Amino acid sequence: MKLLIPPPSTTPLSAILPSEPLLLMGAGPVPIPQAVAQANGVIINHLGPTMDRVIRNVKTLASYAFQTRSDKIIGLAGPASAAMEMAVSNLCWPGRKVLCLRNGTFSGRLGEMASGVGADVTHIESPPGRPVDLATVREAFERRSYDVITMAHGETSCGVKTVETPEICRFAKSAGALTIVDTVVTLTAMPVQMDEWGIDVGVTGGQKALSSIPGVSLCAFSADAWLAVEQHPGPRPHWCYDALRAQRFWGGQQYHYTAPVPGILALHEALRLVADETLERRFRRHEMSSLALQSGLEAMGLSLFASKDVRLNSVLGISLPPRVDGTRVREHMTKFFRVEISGAFGLDIVRIGQMGEQCRSHNLFKTLYALGMSVAREGVKLDIAAGMAALEQGLAGDHEYFVD
Ligand SMILES: *Cc1c(COP(=O)(O)O)cnc(C)c1O
Repeated sequence: MKLLIPPPSTTPLSAILPSEPLLLMGAGPVPIPQAVAQANGVIINHLGPTMDRVIRNVKTLASYAFQTRSDKIIGLAGPASAAMEMAVSNLCWPGRKVLCLRNGTFSGRLGEMASGVGADVTHIESPPGRPVDLATVREAFERRSYDVITMAHGETSCGVKTVETPEICRFAKSAGALTIVDTVVTLTAMPVQMDEWGIDVGVTGGQKALSSIPGVSLCAFSADAWLAVEQHPGPRPHWCYDALRAQRFWGGQQYHYTAPVPGILALHEALRLVADETLERRFRRHEMSSLALQSGLEAMGLSLFASKDVRLNSVLGISLPPRVDGTRVREHMTKFFRVEISGAFGLDIVRIGQMGEQCRSHNLFKTLYALGMSVAREGVKLDIAAGMAALEQGLAGDHEYFVD
């Protein structure tokens, strides 16, 4: 036998990965706790009593994270975008009127997905740096009614929070519309109260605020949303992301597709750590960490992109001084400080994540120093010492929040 393709020369992963791992301080993925990493290395049968117990726990823990009594919590193999796709494709179909609140990449993606399944989509645009507000949503409903409203609670691309998410969701309930809310960067980083606010589908991924691995995500459906799922006239556009089929596994321990076992075990551990920390303490840690970093950045002489009233604490957009090349700054941070932060899609900003394990004091000092030194190297006058002092002051006295 003669094989067409000879074996390629190989390189072990250890020769590809950097000898010292980069500290991931961008908009995701984020560093993961040891327990999550270990769980991700375990494989068990995807069906049977052990997995049943894991799934039951994941649902209980996720209902705490989402603050919902709904038992329609469904995990899926796929990125957060797949969970967005599950939410959209089960609630939207041809003839459904969808209002997409768009102020950046991810909130816009929900609208693209709704168009993709043939829904009648109207966009409300907000300039980058601002969220869509309740008054604008009300005006849209005065002109026409909608079946579904989509929005991102935290818009990662520009570091903006839809601050009126609770009000918009409550209004939607009163107007008979369902809400799909992307909580990828906010769930467990700041309050998200699914039942209190009347969110109909909450969506999150693993690799952002939950500090788990990418590729396993969650969708939580309210009772109203589930009615719509059941009323989908068909044909159902997705097989894997069909919530009814997925519920066979997540509600009935039956085979749908082979579940991403290690990723679900990792998610179990990430959610367990959230419950052990408690949401109150976790919110406080995130808030304190982000505010301290913000004051450090400003004291150094840098400015934040989003204004304070709508700033997303879990992903900070930083405007660089004129003529400073963001790509060069980030490259220098990686090469000399082993810290990685994000650029942005189109906007002239760099972004620092404040999600999960990123909100630890040692990570903050390293990141702020690395950014300050790398910007100063571009010829900008920064007061790095003042920045570090402001960070230290922001964290002072509360270190117990930063111990894991
Ligand atoms: C990262 C992100 C997503 C998409 O996550 P993927 O896992 O890349 O699909 C969706 N929404 C928000 C707000 C995000 O930050």
